[in-house]
Amino acid sequence: MAKEKGFVTEITPQSEDFSRWYIDVIKKAELMDYSPVRGCIVFRPEGYELWENIQRDLDRRFKETGHRNAYFPLFIPESFFQKEKEHVEGFNPELPWVTEAAGEKLEERLAVRPTSETMFGHMYAKWIQSYRDLPVLINQWANVVRWEKRTLPFLRTSEFLWQEGHTAHETEQEAREETMRMLHVYRDFVQDFLAIPVIMGQKTPSEKFAGAVDTYSIEAMMKDGRAVQAGTSHYLGTNFAVAFDIKFLDRENQLQFTHTTSWGVSTRLIGALIMVHGDDRGLALPPKVAPTQAIMIPIGPPKTRDVVMPRVDELFAQLKQAGVRVRVDDRSDVSPGWKFNEYEMRGVPLRIEIGPRDCENGQAVLVSRISGEKRIVQQANLVEEVERMLEEIHNDMFERAKQFREDNFRSLDTLDEMKAFLEEKRGFVEAGWCGSAACEKTVKEETGATSRNIPFEPTSHKSTCLVCGEKAEHTVAFARAY
Ligand code: AMP
Repeated sequence: MAKEKGFVTEITPQSEDFSRWYIDVIKKAELMDYSPVRGCIVFRPEGYELWENIQRDLDRRFKETGHRNAYFPLFIPESFFQKEKEHVEGFNPELPWVTEAAGEKLEERLAVRPTSETMFGHMYAKWIQSYRDLPVLINQWANVVRWEKRTLPFLRTSEFLWQEGHTAHETEQEAREETMRMLHVYRDFVQDFLAIPVIMGQKTPSEKFAGAVDTYSIEAMMKDGRAVQAGTSHYLGTNFAVAFDIKFLDRENQLQFTHTTSWGVSTRLIGALIMVHGDDRGLALPPKVAPTQAIMIPIGPPKTRDVVMPRVDELFAQLKQAGVRVRVDDRSDVSPGWKFNEYEMRGVPLRIEIGPRDCENGQAVLVSRISGEKRIVQQANLVEEVERMLEEIHNDMFERAKQFREDNFRSLDTLDEMKAFLEEKRGFVEAGWCGSAACEKTVKEETGATSRNIPFEPTSHKSTCLVCGEKAEHTVAFARAY
C-alpha cells in the first residue's frame, strides 16, 4: 500500500504547480525525454504513438477532402526567403542556417525549413500553367525547425512534427472556401478525436501568419486556464503567387495569379491533450487517440489463475478481433492495485478486471479512467459493452472539458474587470475591441493576455472597446497563451 501511495505522490498536484505537474506526467508516462539539443525533444514510443494515431485520422480526413500527400526538401535557399517581405521578417529571427557542407562553404546559405510556403511556391510556379492545372491540393507530413527562445515539451519546441497543407486555386472565393474547409476539418478532428472543445475564429492582424492575408485558428483552454492555439488555416491571397510567379491562363485566356492557402497542426496537439484532460493521477487519454484503449487485469489469488487466465485470453482475442486496442497485464510480481495506479497514470481510458468470482458468474468489471465509474457487465457481451463504454468515456471527457471552459470563461466590458478576473483565476475573457493595435497591446502589457481570435460565434456581441471605450469593431477572445 505504501508503494501505491508513494506512486501517486511522485506527481506534483496541478493546484500546487501546473507546469511541474505537466513535466512530471509526461516524463513518468514515458511520452518524451529531453535531448542534448536545446528545445528539441525525443518522442518516446508512448508519445510517438499518440502522434501516429493523430496522423492516421487526420490523413484520412485530408484525403476525403481531396488532398494528396507529397514530400518537399528540408533545406530552403536563402533567396527564397527574400521574395516575400512579411514572410522573411516573420521567420528570419527563428531560422537556423546551413552554411557549410562536406568541408566547403556553400555558395548560398540554406535555411532548415520553418514552414514551406516558399518551396511550394517555387514548385507550383513550374507546375501550374492553365486553369486546367487547378486546384492543386497537396499536404506534407514533415518536421520543421523554428529556433524558439522559450520552449516547453510538445507545446513549443525548436524542432516539431507537423503537417502543412498548401493549395493553389483559380479564384479568391475558392481559396477562401478551402481555408474555411480545413479550419472546420481541424475543429471536427480536435473535438471528435481528441475530445477537446475549441473556439474557432479569425486572428487579429498582429497575430496573423507572416505573409498571410487572413489567418484563422482554433483555440483550446488548458486546465490552468491558459490557451493553446491548436491549429491554423491561412488565406494567403496572391502574396506568394506574386513572389514566386505562380501564374495561369484563365478561362478567358488571360494570365492570372493563383490564390493560395496553407494550414497546419503540429505535435503541439499532444501537449494540449495532456493539459486538457490530465489530472492529479496522471494522464487521461481520450479513447480514440489512446495507444492502449483498454487494459485487462486478472485479479484474485495465484491459485485461481488457471481458471481466470483462459477466460482472459479468450476475451482478449475477441476484443482484439473487434479492433479494440487492448492489452493484458498478467504479471504476477506486482499487485493488481499497483497495476490500477500504473494504467491510470498512463491514461488508459478503460480498465477491465476479471477475477475468479467474475468467471463463475460470467461477468467482468469495467472501470472508467476519467470518472472512476464501475460497471459490471456480462462476458458474453464484452465487446459491445467495451465499445459502448469507450464511446461514453469520449463524450464524458469532451463534456468535462467543455464545462471547465465555461466555468473559466467571462464575457466582460472593461480592462479593470479583466484584470480583476485574471488575478483571481485564470481563463478566457471575451470583450469588445476597437480594432487598434495600440489597445490590443495595452491588454497584453496590463494583463499578459493576448488576443486569441475573433470568435465566429461569440457568446455575446460587445459594443465598446474594453480599453478605450470607443465603438467595438469586433468581439475578441483574450487569454494568456502557451
Ligand atoms: P503556423 O505555421 O505558425 O501557423 O503554425 C502551424 C501550427 O504549428 C499551429 O497549429 C501552431 O500552433 C503550431 N506551432 C507553431 N510553432 C510551434 C512550435 N514551436 N512547436 C510546436 N508547434 C508549433
